[in-house]
Amino acid sequence: MHRDEAFHLLVGWMVDGTGAPYSRRVLLTVSHGMISALETDFTGSLPTQHLVDLRQCTVIPALVDCHVHLSLSGKRDPDLRQRQVAMAFERARSVIRGHLVDHLARGIMAVRDAGDHCGHSLRFRRELVATESLPLVVHCAGRAWHARGRYGKVLGRAPAAGESLVDALRRSDEDVDQLKVIHSGINSLNEFGQATAPQFAFEDLRNAVSLARDRGLPTMVHANGEQPVGEAIAAGCRSLEHGYFMGLANLQAMVENGVTWVPTVNPMVALAGEASISPRQREIAARTVDHQLEQLRQARILGVTVALGTDSGSFGVLHGRAVAEELRLLIEAGFSLESAIQSATTHGARLLGLTEAMGCLAPGFPASFIVVRGSPAELLEQLTTPHSIWVRGEVWNQVKQEKP
Ligand SMILES: [Zn+2]
Repeated sequence: MHRDEAFHLLVGWMVDGTGAPYSRRVLLTVSHGMISALETDFTGSLPTQHLVDLRQCTVIPALVDCHVHLSLSGKRDPDLRQRQVAMAFERARSVIRGHLVDHLARGIMAVRDAGDHCGHSLRFRRELVATESLPLVVHCAGRAWHARGRYGKVLGRAPAAGESLVDALRRSDEDVDQLKVIHSGINSLNEFGQATAPQFAFEDLRNAVSLARDRGLPTMVHANGEQPVGEAIAAGCRSLEHGYFMGLANLQAMVENGVTWVPTVNPMVALAGEASISPRQREIAARTVDHQLEQLRQARILGVTVALGTDSGSFGVLHGRAVAEELRLLIEAGFSLESAIQSATTHGARLLGLTEAMGCLAPGFPASFIVVRGSPAELLEQLTTPHSIWVRGEVWNQVKQEKP
């Protein structure tokens, strides 16, 4: 058929990204790369021409991963990780490109990069995403900010000695999509739930967040523990990254302040299964996972907006593949399949400001979606090897995309 001609897909099941229960026997009409009509429980006579029969398949919207590190591979080899932190852009570009292909191959069509030491992902987004014909949206924080002498060097930089965060921001006018601030440490594997002190003075954090807002930028804050998380919310952050051990009051405060939570459970699961650390450290990692899933259970009851983010690129978390695992973890925490998918579609799209272009399957939206074999019951298992990925009405071909 001619690419501009309208055509139909008949799919057995559809999860539309809004959180609504899945529909059956859906006839999707695609015209000029857009969904022009959609009928559920279709019983009429089937079009005889231009019909793609996917009755044994489920369709879901293109996915959004709200927390990735594109310049890091997620492999467990510490030497490789060290080399990737310091690699030159010429080397980084093929690494980043490969990771974007890994995302596309699983139907992830928007990613939000949470920072790298050299700012390579931002440079790639600026110079290469369009020319490399990669049909996905890449939002970048560039180099994240951490306090001097505190955690975060692999993801960014610190203000100069004696300089406040807001002053450091004032002299930096990089073309980033969001501000990323690291406001706590990481989870201890030696003492369960051990809190770390906030990295920046509260006033300074608040001023930095409002300066970013004046520049039209949302702020994503890495924070674990009650005090750092509470300060991030009070400072006006748009999204809270990780949020381990934040406590019930902060979950409530997120609802009241319209803050989105990106809980990134994957990296802790990877540590819980890591052979090179001690059994006690693995046990603490596993308990930390359980605690985070318990917080997610509470978040669901309170109505916190949760957006899926995998932290791909961190130790043991692989780009693209990790999304199915993060969805599985949300479901383990009591989310329905449909609300887990909503976190990975509509909620992610809203966080990235893409609500017109992504997130759900409805007339007027681009015909960009994932088709997997089988019913919704098989969805998570099938998501790692999708039947087909559709970008604006055309099947995306991975082989064509991979460079020699
Ligand atoms: Zn991260």
